[in-house]
Amino acid sequence: MDTPAPLIAAIEAGGTKFVVAVGSGPEDIKAVTRIDTSDPAHTMRETIQFISASCRKYGPIQAIGVGSFGPIDLDPTSATYGFITTTPKPGWSHTPVIAPLHSRFQVPVGFDTDVNAAAIGEMLWGAGQNHDPLVYITVGTGVGGGVIVNQQPLHGLLHPEIGHLSVPAPRTPGVIVPDCHCPYHKSCLEGFVCGPAIAARWGIRGEDMPADHPALEEVAETLAYGLINVILTLSPKRIILGGGVMKQKGLIESVRSHTVRLLNGYVNSPAIVYAIDSYIVPPGLGDRSGICGALALGLNALAESKVARS
Ligand code: ZN
Repeated sequence: MDTPAPLIAAIEAGGTKFVVAVGSGPEDIKAVTRIDTSDPAHTMRETIQFISASCRKYGPIQAIGVGSFGPIDLDPTSATYGFITTTPKPGWSHTPVIAPLHSRFQVPVGFDTDVNAAAIGEMLWGAGQNHDPLVYITVGTGVGGGVIVNQQPLHGLLHPEIGHLSVPAPRTPGVIVPDCHCPYHKSCLEGFVCGPAIAARWGIRGEDMPADHPALEEVAETLAYGLINVILTLSPKRIILGGGVMKQKGLIESVRSHTVRLLNGYVNSPAIVYAIDSYIVPPGLGDRSGICGALALGLNALAESKVARS
């Protein structure tokens, strides 16, 4: 008789909402919910209650995977491993995420950035399959990027922070140069193209930019400045662009053409020169990249705990 696939709890911990799911794989999500990201105590309590209720219905979970907004501490030797660290989000700086989950459920917990999780999800089951190195960038309430190298999420001093790449301030003729929306930097990618920055500059939501609106061209060009830095630094085989702002019709096409123009023939790869449409692509998993990646983090934590025990 086949052993049933292990049940995993997956948490996509975003700055606006937590998506929490219980299942054994992307095609076997048994329960999923969305929880507003309010204060840490309340949000974590609701998350734990949902997982507990799912366990009563479907059986015990064997691991948990968390893809979290950040910055986060990914150094297993650090005293604050598993914490959200210096986030500007009120109430969340220096918040432990792994500890309350581990103390309640006593199972292995995999932990990474929300965008590394999304990159893992896309690598395993989406548009990133067989494209390594792989970069996943989300453009929404914030901007962030996850990187896969040799099938592993890239960590380092912290982890990549692609949203805060320095880029030129947008200049649309007849429109004043915007202030950067980021509290840390004067001219960074997130500070110009995240949803709130677009809303502050143009009075419209990023998702609602008409195709012929100057905002769309400006956002596309600024994003392309970020992408050329990513291409020149990491030489990825594919870049996936997700997030609410990227759902805007015509935006990804404009990002592709600005990227090719700004590279100006310097990266002489067929992927750029002849196949940009299949080089810069939307997520294969749609809105599910992050939660599927969190599931993969849980499966990975379970596999590692079995290796450690054997
Ligand atoms: Zn910044």
